Amino acid sequence: MAKHDLVIIGAGPGGYVAAIRAAQLGFSVGIVEKEETLGGTCVRVGCIPSKALLESSERYAEIQDKFKEHGIEVSAVNLNLKTLLGRKNKVVKANTDGVAFLMKKNKIAVYKGLGEITAPGNVTVHSKEAETSLEAEKIIIATGSSVASIPGVSPDGELITTSNEAIDYQEVPGHLVVIGGGVIGLELGSVWKRLGAKVTVLEYFDTILPGMDSEIAKDALKIFKKQGLEFQLGARVKGVSSDGKSCTIEIDGKDAIKADRVLVATGRKPNTEGLGLEKLGLALDKRGRIPVDEHFETSIKSIYAIGDVIPGPMLAHKAEEDGVACVELIKTGVGHVDYNLVPAIVYTHPEIASVGQTEEQLKEAGIAYNKGVFPYMANGRARALGETDGKVKILADTKTDRVLGVHIIGVSAGDLIAETVTAMTFGASSEDIARTIHAHPTLAEIVKEAALSVHGNALHI
Ligand code: NAD
Repeated sequence: MAKHDLVIIGAGPGGYVAAIRAAQLGFSVGIVEKEETLGGTCVRVGCIPSKALLESSERYAEIQDKFKEHGIEVSAVNLNLKTLLGRKNKVVKANTDGVAFLMKKNKIAVYKGLGEITAPGNVTVHSKEAETSLEAEKIIIATGSSVASIPGVSPDGELITTSNEAIDYQEVPGHLVVIGGGVIGLELGSVWKRLGAKVTVLEYFDTILPGMDSEIAKDALKIFKKQGLEFQLGARVKGVSSDGKSCTIEIDGKDAIKADRVLVATGRKPNTEGLGLEKLGLALDKRGRIPVDEHFETSIKSIYAIGDVIPGPMLAHKAEEDGVACVELIKTGVGHVDYNLVPAIVYTHPEIASVGQTEEQLKEAGIAYNKGVFPYMANGRARALGETDGKVKILADTKTDRVLGVHIIGVSAGDLIAETVTAMTFGASSEDIARTIHAHPTLAEIVKEAALSVHGNALHI
């Protein structure tokens, strides 16, 4: 029986990063993964392939819509979807190979198969070829999440699809209906719209991106409509059927619609099946997540859980931070993740990024705040880029001026937010950001100007 100080089940961003940190701290580590390649949903079928597709489809859209104004005339633009998907697959392979390399470099033993915790300190790895028993002082569950559908909708992997298939459609659908105006719906809806599909997004709430700052969500809706995406808000999908050629989507109180393909993007659920939790007596919460204490320890001593299987946003970077903190807590007793400062990014064009509290949350909590807003339109670099849609909004405490939330819609929002996350991590005031020198001409100046604008001192407007 192989023995390790630590066995991690799941080699996604939470699990593999925890494994690396544990190896750095001197643990003997084993990691169990049921898929052929390492990296989890994010690397194999999530963040990485979708970003590759977003990049290719953005270039395709740009060459048709934006080159002309630069004086670049292109006579014929053809889409070679096979090459585009092939490039995406290469990007994924480089990343999964990269994770495998990191495991090797850090002398982490990789076990391929389904990990089951048979008792505290014991993991059995079930694979087609063999059953391997592992002994471990500590076990971390990092099994991530998978697509959650809704009542009346059963994805068949053919015409009724999830993000797993929507990163690999072999032809551009004529009409793609996306159920859910959340992150996946908007990112993958954008990809297929740019590649030529008619895309209709059906969203249950009266807003897309529910939970995001509502001013930014409204701006986003306007921009996406301008790009040709179609929306039905307040549309609760109650059923989807397929006759093998097309799909019919039933919407509560509205006319049914037809589509060539459906993408179900209504959220994800924690992966806890097959882990042996029931036999261990490890109870889940109402939403199927594993409850943990502030040290990531479950109700069973020496079994820990991190990432999408525990409460908190289902985001790769949150899972990574969980993983590092969990391992450091095991080793040193010290480790921390600030869940108020987990940035969230939607990789549409333009990007949408946020950190901290929204205006709605501040109002609900009765916290008085000042608001500074600066539009991309007033920034020289944005004009030179031809990317003038969007704004940066900074919310700061009225009494202390401490930054409480930052919300950005605009090109490179995902990169611009990083500065403000760092500032907020250090407890910065809006004046701290406003008095920091930002190079000219950069988009980062929009952040500075928004901070200046918190006290009415913006310069370029
Ligand atoms: P989501 O929760 O972001 O959005 C789901 C949407 O579906 C919601 O707006 C919801 O109101 C809507 N919905 C639910 N039931 C419906 C119904 N019956 N009819 C119509 N609409 C309905 O979920 P997602 O987009 O599937 O993403 C899943 C998870 O993956 C999220 O936690 C997300 O944060 C994460 N993710 C993150 C990124 C990123 O960080 N860029 C990218 C992809 C996924």
